[in-house]
Parts: sequence; C-alpha cells; structure tokens
Amino acid sequence: MGLGSTPRSIPSRADAELLDEADPLAGFRDQFVVPDPGLIYLNGNSLGRLPITTQERLHSVIDHEWADDLVRGWDRWIDWPRRVGDRLGTALLGTQPGEVVVCDSTTVNLYKVAFAALALVPDRPRVVVGSEEFPTDRYVLEGLAASSGREFFAVPAGEALTTHIDDQTALVVASLVDFRTAALADLAGTTKAVHRAGAKIIWDLSHAVGAVEIDLRATGVEFAVGCTYKYLNAGPGSPAFVYVRSDIQQQVRQPIWGWFGQHDQFAMGPRYEPVTGIEQFLTGTPSVLGLVAVDEGVALLAEAGIDRAAAKARALTDLLIALADEWLAPLGFAVVSPRDGSRRGGHVALSHPAASKLGQALIDDAGVVGDCRPPDLLRLCPAPLYTRFVDVWDGMARIRDLNAW
Ligand SMILES: *Cc1c(COP(=O)(O)O)cnc(C)c1O
Repeated sequence: MGLGSTPRSIPSRADAELLDEADPLAGFRDQFVVPDPGLIYLNGNSLGRLPITTQERLHSVIDHEWADDLVRGWDRWIDWPRRVGDRLGTALLGTQPGEVVVCDSTTVNLYKVAFAALALVPDRPRVVVGSEEFPTDRYVLEGLAASSGREFFAVPAGEALTTHIDDQTALVVASLVDFRTAALADLAGTTKAVHRAGAKIIWDLSHAVGAVEIDLRATGVEFAVGCTYKYLNAGPGSPAFVYVRSDIQQQVRQPIWGWFGQHDQFAMGPRYEPVTGIEQFLTGTPSVLGLVAVDEGVALLAEAGIDRAAAKARALTDLLIALADEWLAPLGFAVVSPRDGSRRGGHVALSHPAASKLGQALIDDAGVVGDCRPPDLLRLCPAPLYTRFVDVWDGMARIRDLNAW
C-alpha cells in the first residue's frame, strides 16, 4: 500500500475509490445485510454485521428443522459443536480436526481451560495477566486464583508480560490482539518463552480471529479461546470456541462436568466419564441457532481467505491512519495503535481528551458508529469483509467535520 511512505500526500476520495476497484474482496459486501447505506459502521470488532446467508439459514433452521423436525433434529444438531469447531479451526486457526469446539461464552471457556491448564502446574503459585487485559479475562483469573489458593499478579501497564514470568509462574493469559490498542502480540515468541519457563499460556483470540492470520500449530500453542460475534459475524451472544492441542487433551480435565462431555452421553450412566477428545470441553446443550450463525460466518471468511481478509484489514487501517494523521492530529487526536501494519489487528485506536464522551454525537451528528472507551480512546474498526475504502474515507471526513473537538 505504501500510504504511510514519503513523500506523503493526502489520500483523496478518488484514491479510495481506486482501492475499492482493485479490491479482490469488494463483492463480499453484497453478502451482508446493509439496511442503512448512509450509516458508516466502524465497530466490527464489537459486533459484526449480519451475513445474508446467516439470515436465510437461520430462517430455514427455525421454519423447517425446529418447526418440523422438533426433537428429531438432535440427530443432526448433536455433532455441530465439533463440526463447526473443525471448520473454524482449520480455516482460521491453523488447527487439525478434533482440536476445536464451539460452545458457551469466551468467559466460561476461559474458566474451563484455565482450570484445566492450572492442574498441569500444581506446584507453582502464581497466575499472570496484563493489568490492561480485557476485563473478563482478568476477573476469571482472579477468581480462579482465589478459589485455588494461588496468587493473582497483574502486570503493570507498559511492562512486558515476559519479564514477569519465572519458576513461580503457573499460568499466563494473553490476548493476541489488544482490545484497546490493536497491538499484535508475538504469538510464537511469547508462547516459547512461557513454555521455556515451565509455565502454561492461554491465548485469547477474540480480537484476532478473522482479522489476522493465525497458525496455532506452527506456533506451539496449547490452549486458546475466542469469540465469534466480532470478526466472525455470528451475531450477538453467539457461542465461543475452545482450542486444546490434541496431545494435551488426555492430560487435562475441565471443571464443569456436564453431560455433553460425557462418554456415551445417552447411556446416562451413574458416574462422569469424560470423552477423550475435545468434546470433553462441552458442558450442556449447545445453542443450535448460534452454531448455525458461526458456521455461516466462518464459511464466508473461509471463502474470502483469511490471508486476503487480513491483508485488506491492514490496507483499510493504513488508510485510516493516514487520514487520522492529516485530518485529526490537528484536532488533538493521536494514533495509539502500532503504525506497522504487521504489528496490528483489524482496528485502530485514536486518543483524544473528549473521545470517550462523544460516542453518541458521533452516531447522531456524523452517522458513524465507532466505539469510545474511557478514559480517552476512540476505536474504529473497518472490518474487511463489508467495509469499503470509501467508507473509511467518508467516515474520517465526517469525524473531522464533527463540531465537537
Ligand atoms: C470480546 C472479548 C471477550 C468476550 O467475552 P464474552 O464471554 O463473550 O463476553 C473476552 N475476551 C476478549 C479479549 C474479548 O475481546
């Protein structure tokens, strides 16, 4: 792209149009429901748009599978957490079949996996997480530490996780893409450093999956969780995923002993005997409608190709940063996200003293949906499957012209 290279010229709207014309993924926007073309949606990292295939298939599952088949539908539905997990993992995470299931929320999955991983390091007292990590991750670890008699350590802002890992560390939890700044962590390097210290690490991929290329196998990752309603476009509250590397699955046991993790589930036997595979991480009856939405969301991204989606995400955010430098810096904004596209996820964080108070004005007066985070961050996410380069250009121009800065 080279938009940030010198000599710098302000990208014009015609430049943005040219980028759209050359975009191999341009056609994917037509596969989404866009009811209000005047609204510029830059919040795909909070909730992705609705794919048309998802809308159609949900109607079909409701009208036919649920209405007609009733309980007989479970003959089919019962395998979906594993089948959808296989599709998600092989298309987007670089995993093998049998290593991913789709179920529960990210919060619950993190609890299950963290509990399981902690049992592998019984003699180490400390769990470690960044003090600016996503809140639910910190709370889950804090609670688990409290209930298991371990010490909870939050790494101070600005300090590297890896400098706080030693022979006392049992478990580390980290996000691949920082939900605030979009900074991309070193997946392979951090995993290796934690393992070398004899500790375990769980990666939270919520802000990364569907926005960046991920290869869990090649990077030696043992445990990961993530959500599906952001870049995977599976809708509000859609089920999350769990990855546990196949060679670890038999060494661990998750804490919620539910019947969906039970060997020979419908024998309804007297004692819990978990299945040996990744299905051990299932708990209770899955959301079939949610699984359908994950399946369709993954199918769209698989069709686009995560390599192309990630490249477009970088190009869109490069343009956004170039325009922020030209138009918003004079208004008091600063780019907080890494400028190197290879070190960044799919969104951009800008700071401004008034940013966190102006979310509503942004929607009401500018017709731009972004995301404001206290104390001073404005997060903008041009998700690659349905956002055009001209949307970024128009959205940034509207933010510039908002009479509020
Ligand atoms: C979005 C997100 C979650 C969401 O967790 P839920 O259980 O779905 O509410 C968790 N962790 C991270 C890093 C996220 O970005």
